[in-house]
Amino acid sequence: MTALSARLISMIRTRFAPSPTGYLHIGGARTALYAWAYARKHGGQFILRVEDTDQERSSEASVQAILDSMTWLGLDWDEGPIFQMDRLSRYREIAEVLVDSGNAYWCYATPEELTKMREEQRKMGVKPRYDGRWRPENAADLVPPEDVTPVLRFKNPDSGDVAWDDLVKGVITVSNTELDDFVLLRGDGTPTYNFGVVVDDHDMNLTHVIRGDDHVNNTPRQINVYRALGYELPAFGHVPMILGDDGERLSKRHGAVSVMHYRDQGFLPDAVLNYLARLGWSHGDDEIFSRDQFLEWFDLEHVNRSPAKFDATKLSWTNGEHINLADDELLADLVRANPGGQDIIWEDGPNLSDLIKLLKDRATSLNDLADSVLMFFREVQISQDDRLKFLTPDIKPALIHFTESLQGIEWGRPEIAGCIKMSLTEFQLKMPQLAMPLRLLLTGQTQTPAIDAIIELVGRDRMLARLHAGLSEL
Ligand code: GLU
Repeated sequence: MTALSARLISMIRTRFAPSPTGYLHIGGARTALYAWAYARKHGGQFILRVEDTDQERSSEASVQAILDSMTWLGLDWDEGPIFQMDRLSRYREIAEVLVDSGNAYWCYATPEELTKMREEQRKMGVKPRYDGRWRPENAADLVPPEDVTPVLRFKNPDSGDVAWDDLVKGVITVSNTELDDFVLLRGDGTPTYNFGVVVDDHDMNLTHVIRGDDHVNNTPRQINVYRALGYELPAFGHVPMILGDDGERLSKRHGAVSVMHYRDQGFLPDAVLNYLARLGWSHGDDEIFSRDQFLEWFDLEHVNRSPAKFDATKLSWTNGEHINLADDELLADLVRANPGGQDIIWEDGPNLSDLIKLLKDRATSLNDLADSVLMFFREVQISQDDRLKFLTPDIKPALIHFTESLQGIEWGRPEIAGCIKMSLTEFQLKMPQLAMPLRLLLTGQTQTPAIDAIIELVGRDRMLARLHAGLSEL
Protein backbone atom coordinates (compact mmCIF):
# COMPACT_ATOMS: atom_id res chain seq x y z
CA MET A 1 0.00 0.00 0.00
CA THR A 2 1.40 3.44 -0.87
CA ALA A 3 1.73 6.14 1.74
CA LEU A 4 -0.98 8.12 -0.01
CA SER A 5 -3.55 5.34 0.05
CA ALA A 6 -2.70 4.64 3.68
CA ARG A 7 -3.47 8.30 4.41
CA LEU A 8 -6.69 8.21 2.43
CA ILE A 9 -8.12 5.36 4.41
CA SER A 10 -6.76 6.41 7.79
CA MET A 11 -9.07 8.10 10.23
CA ILE A 12 -8.80 11.85 10.57
CA ARG A 13 -7.17 12.80 13.86
CA THR A 14 -6.76 16.38 14.99
CA ARG A 15 -5.60 17.87 18.23
CA PHE A 16 -5.59 20.93 20.42
CA ALA A 17 -2.28 21.47 22.17
CA PRO A 18 -2.53 24.38 24.61
CA SER A 19 0.29 25.55 26.84
CA PRO A 20 -1.20 25.84 30.34
CA THR A 21 0.11 29.29 31.09
CA GLY A 22 -3.21 31.05 31.69
CA TYR A 23 -6.94 30.73 31.11
CA LEU A 24 -8.34 29.58 27.78
CA HIS A 25 -8.89 32.75 25.80
CA ILE A 26 -11.18 33.40 22.90
CA GLY A 27 -8.40 32.88 20.33
CA GLY A 28 -7.35 29.53 21.76
CA ALA A 29 -10.96 28.42 22.02
CA ARG A 30 -11.56 29.19 18.37
CA THR A 31 -8.49 27.20 17.32
CA ALA A 32 -9.71 24.30 19.46
CA LEU A 33 -13.18 24.64 17.95
CA TYR A 34 -11.94 24.39 14.36
CA ALA A 35 -9.71 21.40 15.11
CA TRP A 36 -12.53 19.69 17.02
CA ALA A 37 -15.10 20.44 14.31
CA TYR A 38 -12.83 19.11 11.58
CA ALA A 39 -12.49 15.80 13.39
CA ARG A 40 -16.16 15.54 14.33
CA LYS A 41 -17.37 16.44 10.86
CA HIS A 42 -15.28 13.69 9.32
CA GLY A 43 -16.10 11.09 11.95
CA GLY A 44 -12.52 11.35 13.19
CA GLN A 45 -10.91 11.78 16.58
CA PHE A 46 -9.86 14.79 18.58
CA ILE A 47 -6.94 14.64 20.99
CA LEU A 48 -6.14 17.02 23.83
CA ARG A 49 -2.47 17.46 24.60
CA VAL A 50 -1.12 19.75 27.27
CA GLU A 51 2.19 21.34 26.32
CA ASP A 52 3.55 21.89 29.80
CA THR A 53 7.29 21.74 29.29
CA ASP A 54 7.70 25.39 30.19
CA GLN A 55 7.69 24.58 33.88
CA GLU A 56 8.10 28.18 34.98
CA ARG A 57 4.93 29.38 33.32
CA SER A 58 2.73 26.26 33.43
CA SER A 59 0.31 25.71 36.29
CA GLU A 60 -2.23 23.17 37.48
CA ALA A 61 -4.81 25.93 37.74
CA SER A 62 -4.37 26.78 34.07
CA VAL A 63 -4.75 23.12 33.08
CA GLN A 64 -8.00 23.02 35.04
CA ALA A 65 -9.23 26.28 33.52
CA ILE A 66 -8.58 24.93 30.02
CA LEU A 67 -10.34 21.62 30.73
CA ASP A 68 -13.30 23.45 32.31
CA SER A 69 -13.61 25.84 29.39
CA MET A 70 -13.52 23.06 26.82
CA THR A 71 -16.04 21.03 28.75
CA TRP A 72 -18.34 24.03 29.06
CA LEU A 73 -18.10 24.71 25.32
CA GLY A 74 -18.81 21.04 24.63
CA LEU A 75 -15.51 20.44 22.83
CA ASP A 76 -15.14 16.83 23.88
CA TRP A 77 -11.92 14.92 23.30
CA ASP A 78 -11.37 11.25 22.53
CA GLU A 79 -7.87 10.95 24.01
CA GLY A 80 -6.07 12.89 26.68
CA PRO A 81 -5.31 15.13 28.29
CA ILE A 82 -1.82 13.89 27.46
CA PHE A 83 0.89 15.81 29.30
CA GLN A 84 4.22 16.39 27.61
CA MET A 85 6.00 16.23 30.97
CA ASP A 86 4.96 12.57 31.16
CA ARG A 87 6.77 11.86 27.91
CA LEU A 88 10.27 13.20 28.58
CA SER A 89 11.94 9.83 28.08
CA ARG A 90 10.33 9.52 24.66
CA TYR A 91 11.74 12.89 23.52
CA ARG A 92 15.18 11.85 24.73
CA GLU A 93 14.89 8.59 22.84
CA ILE A 94 14.08 10.40 19.60
CA ALA A 95 16.79 12.96 20.31
CA GLU A 96 19.27 10.08 20.36
CA VAL A 97 17.98 8.94 16.98
CA LEU A 98 18.68 12.39 15.58
CA VAL A 99 22.16 12.47 17.11
CA ASP A 100 22.97 9.01 15.75
CA SER A 101 21.85 9.95 12.24
CA GLY A 102 23.96 13.13 12.30
CA ASN A 103 20.91 15.41 12.38
CA ALA A 104 21.51 16.83 15.85
CA TYR A 105 24.51 17.82 17.92
CA TRP A 106 25.33 19.10 21.40
CA CYS A 107 26.04 22.77 21.69
CA TYR A 108 28.08 24.12 24.62
CA ALA A 109 27.74 27.80 23.87
CA THR A 110 26.79 29.71 27.02
CA PRO A 111 23.91 32.22 27.02
CA GLU A 112 26.46 35.05 27.48
CA GLU A 113 28.42 33.84 24.49
CA LEU A 114 25.26 33.68 22.37
CA THR A 115 24.19 37.18 23.40
CA LYS A 116 27.60 38.49 22.36
CA MET A 117 27.36 36.59 19.06
CA ARG A 118 23.99 38.22 18.32
CA GLU A 119 25.21 41.68 19.24
CA GLU A 120 28.11 41.34 16.84
CA GLN A 121 25.81 40.10 14.10
CA ARG A 122 23.55 43.07 14.64
CA LYS A 123 26.51 45.43 14.46
CA MET A 124 27.49 43.88 11.15
CA GLY A 125 23.95 44.38 9.90
CA VAL A 126 23.10 40.66 9.61
CA LYS A 127 20.09 38.90 11.05
CA PRO A 128 20.97 37.51 14.49
CA ARG A 129 21.06 33.70 14.38
CA TYR A 130 23.03 30.81 15.76
CA ASP A 131 26.22 30.57 13.71
CA GLY A 132 26.71 26.80 13.93
CA ARG A 133 29.86 27.06 16.06
CA TRP A 134 29.29 23.63 17.67
CA ARG A 135 28.29 21.88 14.45
CA PRO A 136 30.52 18.81 14.22
CA GLU A 137 32.23 20.14 11.09
CA ASN A 138 33.09 23.41 12.88
CA ALA A 139 33.85 22.02 16.32
CA ALA A 140 36.53 19.44 15.55
CA ASP A 141 39.06 21.41 17.60
CA LEU A 142 36.73 22.46 20.40
CA VAL A 143 36.84 20.77 23.77
CA PRO A 144 33.43 20.62 25.49
CA PRO A 145 33.77 22.73 28.66
CA GLU A 146 32.98 20.73 31.78
CA ASP A 147 31.02 23.46 33.51
CA VAL A 148 28.49 23.99 30.74
CA THR A 149 25.39 21.86 30.38
CA PRO A 150 24.88 21.52 26.65
CA VAL A 151 21.66 21.90 24.68
CA LEU A 152 20.86 19.69 21.74
CA ARG A 153 20.54 21.50 18.41
CA PHE A 154 18.99 20.38 15.17
CA LYS A 155 21.28 20.46 12.18
CA ASN A 156 19.04 22.28 9.79
CA PRO A 157 19.68 21.71 6.06
CA ASP A 158 21.80 24.52 4.61
CA SER A 159 20.13 24.71 1.24
CA GLY A 160 16.86 24.04 -0.52
CA ASP A 161 13.35 25.06 0.36
CA VAL A 162 10.67 23.82 2.68
CA ALA A 163 7.18 24.05 1.19
CA TRP A 164 3.75 22.87 2.19
CA ASP A 165 0.24 23.37 0.89
CA ASP A 166 -1.47 24.96 3.86
CA LEU A 167 -5.13 24.01 4.20
CA VAL A 168 -6.02 27.61 4.99
CA LYS A 169 -3.30 29.74 3.44
CA GLY A 170 -2.31 27.80 0.32
CA VAL A 171 1.27 27.00 -0.66
CA ILE A 172 3.93 28.44 1.64
CA THR A 173 7.61 28.17 0.75
CA VAL A 174 10.51 29.03 3.04
CA SER A 175 14.19 28.83 2.15
CA ASN A 176 16.39 26.80 4.49
CA THR A 177 18.84 29.68 4.50
CA GLU A 178 16.25 31.51 6.63
CA LEU A 179 16.37 28.84 9.35
CA ASP A 180 19.10 28.24 11.88
CA ASP A 181 20.04 25.28 14.05
CA PHE A 182 17.34 25.56 16.69
CA VAL A 183 17.38 23.92 20.09
CA LEU A 184 15.68 20.51 20.41
CA LEU A 185 16.44 19.72 24.05
CA ARG A 186 17.11 22.33 26.69
CA GLY A 187 19.85 21.92 29.25
CA ASP A 188 17.35 20.48 31.73
CA GLY A 189 16.38 17.75 29.26
CA THR A 190 12.95 19.13 28.37
CA PRO A 191 12.10 19.41 24.69
CA THR A 192 11.50 22.77 23.06
CA TYR A 193 8.10 23.34 21.50
CA ASN A 194 9.35 22.67 17.96
CA PHE A 195 10.75 19.28 18.93
CA GLY A 196 8.06 18.03 21.32
CA VAL A 197 5.35 18.92 18.84
CA VAL A 198 6.87 16.79 16.05
CA VAL A 199 7.42 13.74 18.25
CA ASP A 200 3.91 14.03 19.65
CA ASP A 201 2.07 14.79 16.43
CA HIS A 202 3.78 11.75 14.91
CA ASP A 203 3.34 9.39 17.89
CA MET A 204 -0.30 10.39 18.28
CA ASN A 205 -0.98 9.62 14.60
CA LEU A 206 -2.32 13.06 13.89
CA THR A 207 -3.37 13.56 10.30
CA HIS A 208 -4.21 17.28 10.48
CA VAL A 209 -2.44 19.95 12.48
CA ILE A 210 -4.81 22.90 12.78
CA ARG A 211 -3.40 25.76 14.84
CA GLY A 212 -2.97 29.51 15.07
CA ASP A 213 -0.95 31.21 12.36
CA ASP A 214 1.48 32.54 14.95
CA HIS A 215 3.09 29.14 14.34
CA VAL A 216 3.58 29.49 10.57
CA ASN A 217 7.23 30.36 11.18
CA ASN A 218 7.70 27.20 13.19
CA THR A 219 6.22 24.84 10.64
CA PRO A 220 9.25 24.73 8.24
CA ARG A 221 11.50 23.89 11.21
CA GLN A 222 9.14 21.12 12.22
CA ILE A 223 8.92 19.80 8.65
CA ASN A 224 12.71 19.51 8.57
CA VAL A 225 12.61 17.42 11.74
CA TYR A 226 9.89 15.20 10.24
CA ARG A 227 12.11 14.65 7.23
CA ALA A 228 15.20 13.94 9.30
CA LEU A 229 13.24 11.28 11.17
CA GLY A 230 11.65 9.85 8.04
CA TYR A 231 8.16 10.59 9.41
CA GLU A 232 5.18 11.13 7.15
CA LEU A 233 3.96 14.73 7.26
CA PRO A 234 0.50 15.63 8.53
CA ALA A 235 -1.54 18.25 6.69
CA PHE A 236 -1.16 21.74 8.18
CA GLY A 237 -3.82 24.43 8.45
CA HIS A 238 -2.97 27.76 10.06
CA VAL A 239 -5.88 29.79 11.29
CA PRO A 240 -5.46 33.59 11.30
CA MET A 241 -5.26 35.48 14.54
CA ILE A 242 -8.10 37.28 16.26
CA LEU A 243 -7.55 41.01 16.64
CA GLY A 244 -9.14 43.56 18.93
CA ASP A 245 -11.23 46.35 17.43
CA ASP A 246 -8.10 48.52 17.26
CA GLY A 247 -6.43 46.01 14.92
CA GLU A 248 -3.96 44.85 17.58
CA ARG A 249 -3.62 41.23 18.60
CA LEU A 250 -6.43 40.38 21.02
CA SER A 251 -5.29 40.60 24.62
CA LYS A 252 -6.56 41.37 28.10
CA ARG A 253 -6.33 45.03 27.20
CA HIS A 254 -9.40 44.55 24.99
CA GLY A 255 -11.54 43.52 27.93
CA ALA A 256 -12.89 40.08 28.57
CA VAL A 257 -11.11 37.43 26.58
CA SER A 258 -11.42 34.42 28.86
CA VAL A 259 -13.99 31.78 27.92
CA MET A 260 -15.00 31.32 31.56
CA HIS A 261 -15.83 35.00 31.86
CA TYR A 262 -18.56 34.46 29.29
CA ARG A 263 -19.93 31.50 31.19
CA ASP A 264 -20.05 33.62 34.34
CA GLN A 265 -21.74 36.48 32.51
CA GLY A 266 -24.63 34.29 31.41
CA PHE A 267 -23.64 33.30 27.90
CA LEU A 268 -24.91 30.05 26.45
CA PRO A 269 -22.12 27.74 25.31
CA ASP A 270 -23.81 27.25 21.94
CA ALA A 271 -23.90 31.01 21.43
CA VAL A 272 -20.20 31.40 22.18
CA LEU A 273 -19.51 28.44 19.89
CA ASN A 274 -21.63 30.05 17.14
CA TYR A 275 -19.86 33.39 17.53
CA LEU A 276 -16.39 31.83 17.54
CA ALA A 277 -17.24 29.70 14.52
CA ARG A 278 -18.28 32.80 12.56
CA LEU A 279 -15.21 34.71 13.67
CA GLY A 280 -13.08 33.96 10.64
CA TRP A 281 -15.26 31.40 8.87
CA SER A 282 -18.51 31.75 6.99
CA HIS A 283 -21.29 29.76 5.45
CA GLY A 284 -23.00 32.18 3.06
CA ASP A 285 -24.89 34.79 5.07
CA ASP A 286 -25.74 32.47 7.94
CA GLU A 287 -25.15 34.16 11.27
CA ILE A 288 -27.10 32.09 13.75
CA PHE A 289 -26.79 28.33 13.68
CA SER A 290 -26.81 25.35 15.98
CA ARG A 291 -23.87 23.16 16.86
CA ASP A 292 -25.16 20.44 14.52
CA GLN A 293 -25.58 22.85 11.63
CA PHE A 294 -22.06 24.11 12.18
CA LEU A 295 -20.64 20.60 12.10
CA GLU A 296 -22.52 19.90 8.91
CA TRP A 297 -21.24 23.08 7.21
CA PHE A 298 -17.72 23.51 8.56
CA ASP A 299 -14.80 23.30 6.18
CA LEU A 300 -11.34 24.79 6.14
CA GLU A 301 -11.78 26.27 2.65
CA HIS A 302 -14.08 28.92 4.06
CA VAL A 303 -11.79 29.96 6.88
CA ASN A 304 -10.65 33.51 6.08
CA ARG A 305 -7.01 34.07 5.28
CA SER A 306 -6.93 37.44 6.98
CA PRO A 307 -7.35 38.06 10.72
CA ALA A 308 -10.78 38.41 12.29
CA LYS A 309 -11.79 41.22 14.64
CA PHE A 310 -13.35 40.42 17.97
CA ASP A 311 -16.63 42.25 18.46
CA ALA A 312 -18.12 41.97 21.94
CA THR A 313 -21.39 43.58 20.79
CA LYS A 314 -21.91 40.94 18.14
CA LEU A 315 -21.14 38.22 20.67
CA SER A 316 -23.89 39.62 22.94
CA TRP A 317 -26.27 39.83 20.02
CA THR A 318 -25.50 36.20 19.11
CA ASN A 319 -26.18 35.23 22.71
CA GLY A 320 -29.52 37.06 22.65
CA GLU A 321 -30.52 35.22 19.48
CA HIS A 322 -29.63 31.86 21.04
CA ILE A 323 -31.54 32.70 24.22
CA ASN A 324 -34.53 33.56 22.09
CA LEU A 325 -34.32 30.21 20.30
CA ALA A 326 -33.60 28.16 23.42
CA ASP A 327 -36.16 25.93 25.04
CA ASP A 328 -38.01 27.74 27.86
CA GLU A 329 -37.69 24.84 30.28
CA LEU A 330 -33.95 24.68 29.70
CA LEU A 331 -33.63 28.42 30.33
CA ALA A 332 -35.78 28.08 33.45
CA ASP A 333 -33.41 25.39 34.76
CA LEU A 334 -30.40 27.61 34.06
CA VAL A 335 -31.99 30.61 35.80
CA ARG A 336 -33.04 28.47 38.78
CA ALA A 337 -29.51 27.12 39.06
CA ASN A 338 -27.99 30.59 39.19
CA PRO A 339 -30.33 33.28 40.52
CA GLY A 340 -27.54 35.81 41.03
CA GLY A 341 -26.74 34.71 44.56
CA GLN A 342 -30.25 35.37 45.85
CA ASP A 343 -32.54 33.11 47.83
CA ILE A 344 -35.64 32.77 45.76
CA ILE A 345 -38.73 30.76 46.56
CA TRP A 346 -39.71 29.83 43.05
CA GLU A 347 -43.16 28.57 44.09
CA ASP A 348 -43.97 32.10 45.26
CA GLY A 349 -44.27 33.56 41.81
CA PRO A 350 -45.51 32.97 38.29
CA ASN A 351 -44.63 29.85 36.37
CA LEU A 352 -40.99 30.32 35.48
CA SER A 353 -40.91 28.93 31.97
CA ASP A 354 -44.07 30.88 30.99
CA LEU A 355 -42.46 34.02 32.34
CA ILE A 356 -39.25 33.29 30.44
CA LYS A 357 -41.20 32.78 27.22
CA LEU A 358 -42.50 36.31 27.67
CA LEU A 359 -39.25 37.94 28.70
CA LYS A 360 -36.54 36.15 26.79
CA ASP A 361 -36.60 38.17 23.59
CA ARG A 362 -35.33 41.19 25.54
CA ALA A 363 -32.40 39.41 27.17
CA THR A 364 -28.89 39.29 25.76
CA SER A 365 -27.59 37.12 28.59
CA LEU A 366 -28.86 34.64 31.14
CA ASN A 367 -27.92 37.14 33.82
CA ASP A 368 -30.18 39.73 32.15
CA LEU A 369 -32.91 37.17 31.92
CA ALA A 370 -32.50 36.23 35.59
CA ASP A 371 -32.66 39.92 36.56
CA SER A 372 -35.90 40.50 34.70
CA VAL A 373 -37.39 37.26 36.03
CA LEU A 374 -36.45 38.00 39.62
CA MET A 375 -38.54 41.17 39.63
CA PHE A 376 -41.55 38.92 39.82
CA PHE A 377 -40.27 37.08 42.87
CA ARG A 378 -38.79 39.85 44.97
CA GLU A 379 -40.43 42.63 46.85
CA VAL A 380 -41.23 45.42 44.42
CA GLN A 381 -38.98 48.43 44.68
CA ILE A 382 -39.96 51.63 42.93
CA SER A 383 -37.50 54.46 42.47
CA GLN A 384 -38.44 57.86 43.84
CA ASP A 385 -38.22 59.37 40.35
CA ASP A 386 -40.61 56.84 38.85
CA ARG A 387 -42.98 57.23 41.79
CA LEU A 388 -43.17 60.99 41.35
CA LYS A 389 -43.57 60.70 37.61
CA PHE A 390 -46.10 57.90 37.25
CA LEU A 391 -47.74 57.16 40.59
CA THR A 392 -49.56 60.43 41.09
CA PRO A 393 -52.70 60.64 43.27
CA ASP A 394 -54.87 61.51 40.25
CA ILE A 395 -54.36 58.03 38.80
CA LYS A 396 -55.56 56.35 42.00
CA PRO A 397 -59.29 56.24 41.08
CA ALA A 398 -58.51 54.53 37.76
CA LEU A 399 -56.27 52.01 39.52
CA ILE A 400 -58.98 51.24 42.06
CA HIS A 401 -61.53 50.86 39.28
CA PHE A 402 -59.26 48.49 37.41
CA THR A 403 -58.42 46.47 40.53
CA GLU A 404 -62.11 46.00 41.31
CA SER A 405 -62.93 45.04 37.74
CA LEU A 406 -60.41 42.18 37.95
CA GLN A 407 -62.13 40.51 40.92
CA GLY A 408 -64.79 38.57 39.14
CA ILE A 409 -63.37 37.88 35.66
CA GLU A 410 -62.28 34.61 34.23
CA TRP A 411 -58.45 34.79 34.48
CA GLY A 412 -57.02 35.18 30.97
CA ARG A 413 -55.20 37.69 28.84
CA PRO A 414 -58.22 38.80 26.70
CA GLU A 415 -60.36 39.29 29.82
CA ILE A 416 -57.61 41.33 31.49
CA ALA A 417 -57.19 43.40 28.32
CA GLY A 418 -60.98 43.99 28.43
CA CYS A 419 -60.75 45.37 31.99
CA ILE A 420 -57.90 47.67 31.01
CA LYS A 421 -59.95 49.00 28.11
CA MET A 422 -62.95 49.61 30.36
CA SER A 423 -60.90 51.64 32.84
CA LEU A 424 -59.26 53.63 30.03
CA THR A 425 -62.67 54.56 28.61
CA GLU A 426 -64.18 55.31 32.00
CA PHE A 427 -61.40 57.71 32.97
CA GLN A 428 -60.56 58.94 29.44
CA LEU A 429 -56.94 57.82 29.69
CA LYS A 430 -54.38 56.76 27.13
CA MET A 431 -52.80 53.31 27.51
CA PRO A 432 -49.44 54.44 28.98
CA GLN A 433 -51.19 56.51 31.66
CA LEU A 434 -52.58 53.34 33.18
CA ALA A 435 -49.99 50.81 32.01
CA MET A 436 -46.99 52.64 33.48
CA PRO A 437 -48.35 52.76 37.04
CA LEU A 438 -49.36 49.11 36.72
CA ARG A 439 -45.91 48.10 35.50
CA LEU A 440 -44.32 49.92 38.41
CA LEU A 441 -46.66 48.49 41.02
CA LEU A 442 -46.17 44.95 39.74
CA THR A 443 -42.48 44.86 38.90
CA GLY A 444 -40.89 48.15 39.93
CA GLN A 445 -39.92 48.58 36.26
CA THR A 446 -41.09 50.91 33.52
CA GLN A 447 -40.19 48.50 30.74
CA THR A 448 -41.93 45.17 30.58
CA PRO A 449 -43.63 43.10 27.92
CA ALA A 450 -47.36 43.74 27.29
CA ILE A 451 -49.04 44.63 30.57
CA ASP A 452 -52.02 42.25 30.11
CA ALA A 453 -49.57 39.36 29.58
CA ILE A 454 -47.64 40.34 32.70
CA ILE A 455 -50.81 40.57 34.79
CA GLU A 456 -51.99 37.19 33.59
CA LEU A 457 -48.70 35.59 34.59
CA VAL A 458 -48.47 37.26 37.97
CA GLY A 459 -51.82 35.67 38.81
CA ARG A 460 -54.93 37.07 40.44
CA ASP A 461 -53.98 36.77 44.11
CA ARG A 462 -50.46 38.10 43.82
CA MET A 463 -51.67 40.79 41.46
CA LEU A 464 -54.34 42.02 43.84
CA ALA A 465 -51.96 41.92 46.80
CA ARG A 466 -49.41 44.02 44.95
CA LEU A 467 -52.00 46.50 43.77
CA HIS A 468 -53.49 46.90 47.24
CA ALA A 469 -50.05 47.39 48.76
CA GLY A 470 -49.19 49.99 46.13
CA LEU A 471 -52.49 51.80 46.38
CA SER A 472 -52.28 52.15 50.13
CA GLU A 473 -49.11 54.18 49.63
CA LEU A 474 -50.69 56.57 47.11
N1 GLU B 1 1.40 24.91 22.70
C1 GLU B 1 1.28 25.64 21.47
C2 GLU B 1 0.45 26.88 21.72
O1 GLU B 1 -0.26 26.93 22.71
C3 GLU B 1 0.61 24.73 20.46
C4 GLU B 1 0.90 25.03 19.04
C5 GLU B 1 0.43 23.91 18.14
O2 GLU B 1 -0.78 23.69 18.10
O3 GLU B 1 1.29 23.30 17.52
O4 GLU B 1 0.52 27.82 20.97
